[in-house]
Amino acid sequence: MPDDLFQRYQAAHRAHQAHAKACVSCTDQARCLDGGRLWESFMRLQDAYLQRKRRR
Ligand SMILES: [Zn+2]
Repeated sequence: MPDDLFQRYQAAHRAHQAHAKACVSCTDQARCLDGGRLWESFMRLQDAYLQRKRRR
């Protein structure tokens, strides 16, 4: 059974990593607008995934 939330969490992680690698204004301390958006959606999915895991 495919784990949709996990897939989306992984995809968000890859998307943010790809952006951070290519973007000159993104660092560990600061992120550009796009980088911040990608990071936030990754954090949201990570939280949701970890919380769901904890509840089981
Ligand atoms: Zn960026």
